[in-house]
Amino acid sequence: MQDLIERAARDIAGSTYAIALTGAGISVESGIPPFRGKGGLWEKIDPMEFAHIDSFLRDPEKVWNVLIKEMKGVVDEAKPNDAHTGLADLERMGKLKTIITQNVDGLHQVAGNTDVIEFHGNFAWQRCMDCGGKIETSEIDLSEIPPRCACGGIYRPDCVFFGEMIPPDYMRRSQQAASLCDIMLVLGTSAVVQPAAYMPVVAKENGAKVIEINPENTPLTGRISDYIILGRGGEVMNGIIAELEKLLDA
Ligand SMILES: [Zn+2]
Repeated sequence: MQDLIERAARDIAGSTYAIALTGAGISVESGIPPFRGKGGLWEKIDPMEFAHIDSFLRDPEKVWNVLIKEMKGVVDEAKPNDAHTGLADLERMGKLKTIITQNVDGLHQVAGNTDVIEFHGNFAWQRCMDCGGKIETSEIDLSEIPPRCACGGIYRPDCVFFGEMIPPDYMRRSQQAASLCDIMLVLGTSAVVQPAAYMPVVAKENGAKVIEINPENTPLTGRISDYIILGRGGEVMNGIIAELEKLLDA
């Protein structure tokens, strides 16, 4: 693994426009379970019953009580891990422009990244359905369900429910970043779910190097990605930052 970490550090050092694509895997080390797959939230909670916009509009109380309370409990407690802080370090070193993420936990911003495109919105904020006013999810008072804004409107998570469109502006900005980058780091995602799955393809077609950091091979491996560093995101990012510091000091 060390030789691949050194290779990634050299590639990043020589790049002028690196971006990252992240998914649920990067937040697992922060205690946030993935939605999909084994042990995922959707095994416990049926997304069509609790995470579809029609379910929310029909019965916001039910969706708040089951899905949103559960997620709030998890996200309120979560802190960025070494993979998040590693990406924030890259930005501070001038070596990462943008993060495109499938996650809604807001941990990239907590870690310090300033340009984060969140395909699915952000669960760290709630939005009033009437006046559009926003409040941090951790500040929400759960004594009344569904919680309401001072104007009387119901709060909803500021993220994309099933049945809702990914905001076109996010799509446009991510496609632009993917086509301009010379390096795309893919962390903690197998990138099988659209539209995220499309981004490494766009990067590759435009001549970028795609570097995967994942615990196991994915459909991108050997096909789209130039190489994969098999391991936990936090450990790998710590290694890359340490190598990069040596290179940039030299
Ligand atoms: Zn309101």
